[in-house]
Amino acid sequence: MGIENIAENINKLKIPQNVTLIAVSKKKPVEFIEEAYNSGHRDFGENYIQDAIPKIIKLKHLKDIKWYFIGHLQSNKVKLAAQYFDMIQTIDSKKLANKLNNACGEINKVMPILIEINIAFEQSKEGIKQENLLDLLEHIKSLKNLKLRGLMCIPPYEENPEPYFKEMKILFDKYKIDYNMDILSMGMSGDYNIAIAEGGNMVRIGTAIFGKRV
Ligand SMILES: *Cc1c(COP(=O)(O)O)cnc(C)c1O
Repeated sequence: MGIENIAENINKLKIPQNVTLIAVSKKKPVEFIEEAYNSGHRDFGENYIQDAIPKIIKLKHLKDIKWYFIGHLQSNKVKLAAQYFDMIQTIDSKKLANKLNNACGEINKVMPILIEINIAFEQSKEGIKQENLLDLLEHIKSLKNLKLRGLMCIPPYEENPEPYFKEMKILFDKYKIDYNMDILSMGMSGDYNIAIAEGGNMVRIGTAIFGKRV
């Protein structure tokens, strides 16, 4: 699977109209991103700030391209994330929210964000536990340079994701009206159909579009 299959791979996913497809281009060269762009795709996801920025700079002539940060955001990369990305999907603490809010304030930007939920209570995982969500939602309300749009999760790798997607949908429905959320980001190459069936409306797909990563 190479660059010549990218447009076809996107079509084959058959993502419904109401679902946003983020093409996850981490560890893939700009030529792959350009190929997807030229076939009409605009939304791209990256995990590593230092790998993403050179690509974002190279492609900055593509005015309507959108960059979504989906990796773990380190404190010392917050300013760069604020500057180069159009959405940050992995806010999981008040401290990180504050830092990003300040960085966005300095450049007069209002950043769309998602809160990452550690839906399976995994020890090693990023994301907040469900029980702490309300507190973070309330806190973010006071941050003028962040615009909360919704929730995201990465369920455990080796398990059936369906129960976790269901739980995410319940959480999302519980808070979406009070906190004005419209995005539920869940589903990757191996499970996006299940995520969409369970109510996800943003999927993040890498391998099935760009091929395996080395
Ligand atoms: C890498 C990654 C994806 C894409 O995974 P694939 O299995 O290649 O589709 C989606 N979301 C996050 C957070 C990722 O890190």
